[in-house]
Amino acid sequence: MNLSYWEKESFFKNIDVAIIGSGIVGLSAAIRLKELSPQLNIMILERGSLPIGASTRNAGFACFGSMTELLDDLENEKEDAVFSLVEKRWKGLLRLRQRVGNKNLKYKELGGYELFREEDLSDFEQCAAHIDTFNKKLETIIGQKETYKIVDNKISSFGFKKIKHLIHNQAEGQIHTGEMMRTLLQIAKEKGIQILNGIFIKKINDIEDGVELVTNQEWNLKFKKVLVATNGFAKILIDNTKVISARNQVLITKPIRNNPIEGCFHYDKGYFYFRNIDGRVLLGGGRNLAKEAEATPEFGTTEIIQNALIDLLKNVILPNHNFEIESTWSGILGVGTTKKPIVEQVSKNVSVAVRLGGMGVAIGSLVGEEGAELIFKDL
Ligand SMILES: Cc1cc2nc3c(=O)[nH]c(=O)nc-3n(C[C@H](O)[C@H](O)[C@H](O)COP(=O)(O)OP(=O)(O)OC[C@H]3O[C@@H](n4cnc5c(N)ncnc54)[C@H](O)[C@@H]3O)c2cc1C
Repeated sequence: MNLSYWEKESFFKNIDVAIIGSGIVGLSAAIRLKELSPQLNIMILERGSLPIGASTRNAGFACFGSMTELLDDLENEKEDAVFSLVEKRWKGLLRLRQRVGNKNLKYKELGGYELFREEDLSDFEQCAAHIDTFNKKLETIIGQKETYKIVDNKISSFGFKKIKHLIHNQAEGQIHTGEMMRTLLQIAKEKGIQILNGIFIKKINDIEDGVELVTNQEWNLKFKKVLVATNGFAKILIDNTKVISARNQVLITKPIRNNPIEGCFHYDKGYFYFRNIDGRVLLGGGRNLAKEAEATPEFGTTEIIQNALIDLLKNVILPNHNFEIESTWSGILGVGTTKKPIVEQVSKNVSVAVRLGGMGVAIGSLVGEEGAELIFKDL
């Protein structure tokens, strides 16, 4: 179907920048471009009726790294690189809170906890040995003393079974993911950013004087500059972005009487995570149980992972409570061999801001802004 003259004139003429994807990165990039220059005409093209990728489907942890995650990262990256990413996550969270507002985010600084079983003893000992150095490092980033602390005395108050040690992170918070995205969409609209839903970009052609985007309706849309913010789906558009799709499955219980869970919790080196929300428990993860099958951009849930999540609830998290599962869902992450996001120009008029990994709520605002600034300097 061809576009009519009217559609071309009124919707697609003179757009300075098109952003593909309306997740936290695409929206933050668009808002930043408008902050840099309110006259710019910005359009976001989103394939879903909602921004359905990771940003509306995550767990809402406002976190910057549990101790085992950071120790794991130190095995693969230099200390400076690991802590500069921690700093970026922390600053990203501050930017998100400033832009969206703590009230809109329903931000709660309830703290985070890392759980250790008998079989995690050597990991726990390693963490215990690094607490002082990590706390000193973090003091320079977040300005708080004693970020991490061993709190084994709290295990019984949560009612956990099979848990031997607990490390508290006092600076971790939680947000309401849906409200974050609803508010970001509202801010974008108030700034005059056009968001078109139901447009899947099949192909990007960087031509001399601009970029042509081919849509699923076979429209050829032309823009001056394009930013790709499609994270876990980036491979479809840009070959060389080195982004691997990683599905993450989640479940949520119905409200639980006397729910003992309060805060954000990391289990099994962060492969599982859970939190309280509206009297319920939200639990996700388990990708390590079926790594190959979960390396997919397709949404869906599987028996093997959902059963593992339910087992964890029954035997470790809520052994003394009756619970019912209300619903399940999945979201798609973009991961790679390193945790550093990719923000770069890939051709004359096309840039990408992708590979957010598992802490995109934290870094998404800054990654979007970096993408915007990369494009802005060339406009
Ligand atoms: C289950 C789960 C739990 C998580 N928990 C946390 C957490 O607690 N804390 C945290 O910090 N991070 C968490 N994350 C990670 C975080 O959600 C992501 O890193 C972040 O949301 C990525 O944002 P994004 O904008 O880059 O990508 P997305 O939110 O995935 O947005 C990409 C958008 O691009 C659109 N799109 C894709 N391809 C096309 C195309 N060809 N044409 C048009 N549109 C297209 C998609 O529909 C999507 O809306 C979690 C992720 C998942 C999946």
